[in-house]
Amino acid sequence: MTIVNRKGTTMSKSALRNLPSIEALLQTPHLPDTVARFGHTLVVEAARLELEAIRRRVLDEGGPVPEAEHIAAGVARRVQAIAKPTLQPVVNATGVIIHTNLGRALLSLRAQQAMTEAAQSYSNLEYDLAAGGRGSRYHHAEALLCRLTGAEAAVVVNNNAAALVLSLSGLAQGKEVLISRGQLVEIGGGFRIPDIMRQSGATLVEVGATNRTYIRDYEASLHTVNTGLILRVHHSNFRIIGFTAEPTLAELTDLGYRYGVPVMDDLGSGTLLDTARFGLAHEPTIQESLAAGASVVTASGDKLLGGPQAGLILGKAEIIGKLKKHPLIRAFRVDKTTLAALQATLLAYLEGRATAEIPLWRMIAADVAGLNRRAGKWRRALAVAGATMTVVNAFSTVGGGSLPGQQLPTRALAVNLPSPNAVAARLRALETPIIARVEDDALLLDPRTVLPEQDAVLIDGLKSVLAV
Ligand SMILES: *Cc1c(COP(=O)(O)O)cnc(C)c1O
Repeated sequence: MTIVNRKGTTMSKSALRNLPSIEALLQTPHLPDTVARFGHTLVVEAARLELEAIRRRVLDEGGPVPEAEHIAAGVARRVQAIAKPTLQPVVNATGVIIHTNLGRALLSLRAQQAMTEAAQSYSNLEYDLAAGGRGSRYHHAEALLCRLTGAEAAVVVNNNAAALVLSLSGLAQGKEVLISRGQLVEIGGGFRIPDIMRQSGATLVEVGATNRTYIRDYEASLHTVNTGLILRVHHSNFRIIGFTAEPTLAELTDLGYRYGVPVMDDLGSGTLLDTARFGLAHEPTIQESLAAGASVVTASGDKLLGGPQAGLILGKAEIIGKLKKHPLIRAFRVDKTTLAALQATLLAYLEGRATAEIPLWRMIAADVAGLNRRAGKWRRALAVAGATMTVVNAFSTVGGGSLPGQQLPTRALAVNLPSPNAVAARLRALETPIIARVEDDALLLDPRTVLPEQDAVLIDGLKSVLAV
């Protein structure tokens, strides 16, 4: 039988008779090793796909059937592509410390070990050891959180977004929530405060103007019995400058107290340490918000706290108690490994070791002389690659919606190239991808966010890309 392919030439289908069977293919050198490593089912599936692709190509374009070894290599490549985890480590050379796209905060060694332990062994997650019966998972990090912040009570959920939905649903469903027009922010990834409010069944009441809101604006909207909550939201990822005004949290809580309306403060970044210690602007701390009289404070676990992804809700015992009984809390239930990591992270703060143990603070505190030495070390190791490299003044940022516009002076390796974007793309395609920044037509690599133990991977990766 003959068939006509797309190019109009005729060829014999008999060429396809030379295609090996799957059984024969599995005996080709190296494929038995692939079977031993990845299992029979996956390799057979990949062999079927590879043979089908060859069959189509031969029919479409003509030409001979490849050698069995060549086909086997294609099968092995397919297996590896299917079995490759999509979540993989990368080198963050961007200088953005809390990089949401690259996984936000890195965990301390102690937090990593606590996660492993919680994963390996049964635990008293929801078991009261004294009573020998059911306990609560929401009990675990609570005492530590209260001790560190002065909160009466606390509860941990999956992230700060969940903390907001739960708090708004629990405290203001069917009621009005007052918020300044300047705080109706989009935090990222389409997460907008007005949408969250709607989802929670609360009615948004905007007060003031985008740039200026006064306490009298809140008061003007407050004389209704329907007001459930006054909400303050941290500006997070932007700054309003110029002709601006916003009441302080203390002024808001004073107003709320007079009208019997609780005030909630969504901090987002939620730090426990004073960022001014590190030459940055002062970011409001969780302790300060509670001391200023906020009834509820919400914060992320993996921003300036430097812990796992989590949402912290802290505040008055009566309110937290209500939230712990809310039906939605089950949907936002936090995992045991997260609780273990959070607990370990909080212990570092308790013991005054946060700046020594938590990667985030170590990166923020890294001194320029040390960064200069590392960038210089990279430059010397790469001198063989032939590109023009200099160590330059640059800026790192904290990221994660905290401290917008704030910069940390750093020393970065600048590689001058005719097409830095193309090289940046090749660095991203490496076995361990390297994420760099392109600035002023140079490829910029900031040692602040590169772990010292990743120096060798970074140097080898750059060498291989620059040598091409
Ligand atoms: C980041 C942020 C959130 C969301 O926190 P996630 O932990 O990412 O869910 C909410 N509010 C503010 C002000 C934030 O900065």
